[in-house]
Amino acid sequence: MLVYNTLTNKKEELKTVNPNEVRMYSCGPTVYNFAHIGNLRTYVFMDLLRRTLKLNGYKLLGVMNITDVGHLTSDADEGEDKMEKAAKQQKKSPLEIAAYYTSVFENDVKALNISLPEIVPKATDHIQEMIDFVKGLEEKGFAYETDDGIYFDIVKYGQYGVLSKLDLDEQLAGARVEVNDQKRHPADFAVWKKAPKEHLQQWESPWGMGYPGWHIECSAMGRKYLGDTFDIHTGGVDHIPVHHENEIAQSNALLGHPAVNYWMHGEFMMVDNGKMSKSLGNTYTVDDLKKKSIMPLTFRYFCLNAHYRNKINFTWDAIKASQKAYIRLLEAVNQNKNAENDESAKELCENAYNQFLEAVNDDLNIPKALGILWNLLRSGKCAREIFDTAVRMDAVFGLDLEKGYVPMEEETDIPQELLEKLEQRAQARKEKNWALSDKLRDEINQAGYDIKDSPEGSTLVKR
Ligand code: AMP
Ligand code: ZN
Repeated sequence: MLVYNTLTNKKEELKTVNPNEVRMYSCGPTVYNFAHIGNLRTYVFMDLLRRTLKLNGYKLLGVMNITDVGHLTSDADEGEDKMEKAAKQQKKSPLEIAAYYTSVFENDVKALNISLPEIVPKATDHIQEMIDFVKGLEEKGFAYETDDGIYFDIVKYGQYGVLSKLDLDEQLAGARVEVNDQKRHPADFAVWKKAPKEHLQQWESPWGMGYPGWHIECSAMGRKYLGDTFDIHTGGVDHIPVHHENEIAQSNALLGHPAVNYWMHGEFMMVDNGKMSKSLGNTYTVDDLKKKSIMPLTFRYFCLNAHYRNKINFTWDAIKASQKAYIRLLEAVNQNKNAENDESAKELCENAYNQFLEAVNDDLNIPKALGILWNLLRSGKCAREIFDTAVRMDAVFGLDLEKGYVPMEEETDIPQELLEKLEQRAQARKEKNWALSDKLRDEINQAGYDIKDSPEGSTLVKR
């Protein structure tokens, strides 16, 4: 199997550390908000890779972190902790915020037929491992203390920039206006931050109360579950110049050798040919798609039509066209479901399947593999073998091809007025005003909705 390695900028034959096993780390979500379709594209890429590896007979040991502390708004060392910010804005604890958005994330990936890796560790459950990692760096002289944290010394390390191919001068030119004059080099990054008293998430450490830097989380959890050398690390291309460069530096400095053999990166999803951003209101979620009658698996099909190393441009017209094509695909496959076996289709199917294998094993050429399936469906034959072959290919596509087209149940929007009543009820319960909370519940019930209470909060379900 060939995979493109960002470290070497080349397609390489995959050679694993252990025979028949792939150990792989994927940067996971920072659970302070909903995952948008761009984030989800990156997880579709991870899923396609995992499925293709499985098809090749590899046993998988995958890790995907849940970042619930330490990811600052700038990706580097500036700004507020994203979890902290969301918690303050929503008047909840960081743990509540993390639990809520993690469960939404789990539902989103499930709807997209993305199966999560074998281990999904939370950063806050691995603070000790992170502290140990930082202590190790300090002992080896690669980390130093400042007033606000422990920083990694990139000049001492000396090999910074192997992934992005930027040398230190270029890093310097790209660095932001410096705010921390105790840093030895502007690109030195925090592996541990000291916490001011009011900081919501903080732990005891050899450097006082504090919290881990985002980059150290991935290095520490990867090492814990996958060992000192593992096969593949994935993420989006935005992580190449800072997050992954930092991971490489830390691990190399501590271990004395690279931790990862193949770095693989998914390209970005654009919206209307531009960047996705909150201020433009175009950071769409799976829910936004559903509200416009777009099936989650249509979005998956849309992603599959571009190679993971190419940008993909989301527009509402394009996703609607994808939905039409996806439904046509489901129907074309299922026309063969009840067909007779046809000897003359056998060879056609075998050839198609072999071409499919070649395509997916060539650095996940999924668009080509889909084309091969379409060609088979357009062969003019109707045979059970064609259905069986499509379903076999679906082990990688993950498009529920065997199910056929099932129209999506229209989701009805819950009236705003009821959502407000639900909010008021939560407030009343907080204030132990049971009479008011009961009254609000009755009004909600009378409008035809039930309230479901859970530790993460309450939701409304139509009767
Ligand atoms: P975050 O939760 O911000 O750490 O991002 C989760 C994943 O989504 C990371 O692997 C990012 O590289 C990736 N990502 C962020 N924005 C986009 C985008 N527009 N298109 C594709 N992937 C993205
Ligand atoms: Zn990461």
